[in-house]
Amino acid sequence: MDICGLVDMDFSYSKTQENFVEEVRTWLEEHIQGEFLALRGKGFTGHDDVDPQLQIAWEKELATGGWLGIDFPKWIGGRECSLVEQVLFHKTYVEAKAPGRIPNMGVTLLGPTLLAFGSKPQQERFIPKILSGEELWCQGYSEPEAGSDLSNIKTRAELVDDYWVINGQKVWTSLAQYADWIFVVARTGKGSLRHAGLSYLLVPMSQAEITVRPIIQLTGGAEFNETFFDNAITEKEHVVGGQGQGWKVAMGTLAFERGASTLGQQTSFRQELEDLIDTAVSNGMWDNLVIRQKLMDSYIGLEILRFNQLRMLTALATDSVPGAEQSIGKLFWASWHRKLGELWMEIRGSSGMVAATDGHAGYEGIPYTLDKEQRTFLYSRAHTIYGGSNQIQRNIIGERVLGLPKEPRPMHNSK
Ligand SMILES: Cc1cc2nc3c(=O)[nH]c(=O)nc-3n(C[C@H](O)[C@H](O)[C@H](O)COP(=O)(O)OP(=O)(O)OC[C@H]3O[C@@H](n4cnc5c(N)ncnc54)[C@H](O)[C@@H]3O)c2cc1C
Repeated sequence: MDICGLVDMDFSYSKTQENFVEEVRTWLEEHIQGEFLALRGKGFTGHDDVDPQLQIAWEKELATGGWLGIDFPKWIGGRECSLVEQVLFHKTYVEAKAPGRIPNMGVTLLGPTLLAFGSKPQQERFIPKILSGEELWCQGYSEPEAGSDLSNIKTRAELVDDYWVINGQKVWTSLAQYADWIFVVARTGKGSLRHAGLSYLLVPMSQAEITVRPIIQLTGGAEFNETFFDNAITEKEHVVGGQGQGWKVAMGTLAFERGASTLGQQTSFRQELEDLIDTAVSNGMWDNLVIRQKLMDSYIGLEILRFNQLRMLTALATDSVPGAEQSIGKLFWASWHRKLGELWMEIRGSSGMVAATDGHAGYEGIPYTLDKEQRTFLYSRAHTIYGGSNQIQRNIIGERVLGLPKEPRPMHNSK
């Protein structure tokens, strides 16, 4: 039966695409050597099972092959790969069980933001060092009273002569302890409220006026931090999009959190599900009909996830950039992975509740008391919080996709 003409479509790769996949595969085989062998198939988000410094070194290694800038234009040092090539890169990368990448926010968030909103001097100063892996970035958005309600930011910056002087606190700043720079949304309009009067500043981390305090997580790692600014400074020119334009630029950055890499994520989810099925088969839980039903649900969910992501990529390829409907994908994959973590523990049974180290050192060398599957279970809870919590995604879908009435907003006073 021909469903919507699908039977007549040719899904095979072109010769050029096959050569590209071969180039990626060969490069990875040649470069995952020596110290990087310790990263093979490890270091995925939340697993905390490898040395972050080694992951940073791996980013620099990837840069030597030009793989950090696959979606950046050639004039700034990128490879300018097509969307299909980007997808093929991420897919091949995961299939090769290549090292889990440290979240490189320069590549995924700041670089694209500078291309969209930055000045030419800003692009030329910062992007090449992002693509060479020399400078690592972190994101300074959230504050103790500004998370979902981001426009409640209190960190302020004032222009004194040729420098912005910054005071305030950020929180949950992932990788701040390793980053060279931070992009900060700060209040520069005196007495301004909510979305107005914010600016997007690029601030060097190596100054005594910035203090980073790691927050130890349930998993035993310390990926994120409290970051304090006590008269920290940055140059007057390091404001992106102009003074007072911070909200527009900050929202632009969030829009870059989607992209071709999501197909790689889907491939790694598939590998996790296959591992889980193997465990169920080997420990006899596969014979439990309820567990089988849950595994099948997981498999179906993964297929839905795949089709959603392909739909999003098709929209990107045809330039009809998805808007609020992206929230459907985020809500779905975050919830799917959280459920997979729960199923891991159910299939593990009582051994899932027993703390047992798998030999990896955590924060400050303290051995982890959790194994990989327990950490997946705990970390997958975070997916439904960062990048917009599940509740916020539902609000967006309700209001901006379905056109439902807006939820009542709390009254904010100016104190
Ligand atoms: C692993 C991880 C990494 C992170 N990394 C970074 C980073 O690098 N940089 C950075 O700036 N931030 C980072 N964050 C912070 C993240 O962006 C915030 O946690 C997120 O925006 C939620 O804000 P909050 O924690 O203040 O929770 P809150 O906003 O206080 O929310 C608390 C609860 O209330 C619900 N809620 C809030 N408002 C509404 C509403 N209007 N309607 C219905 N429900 C609502 C939320 O869904 C949630 O369940 C990270 C978070 C995590 C978990």
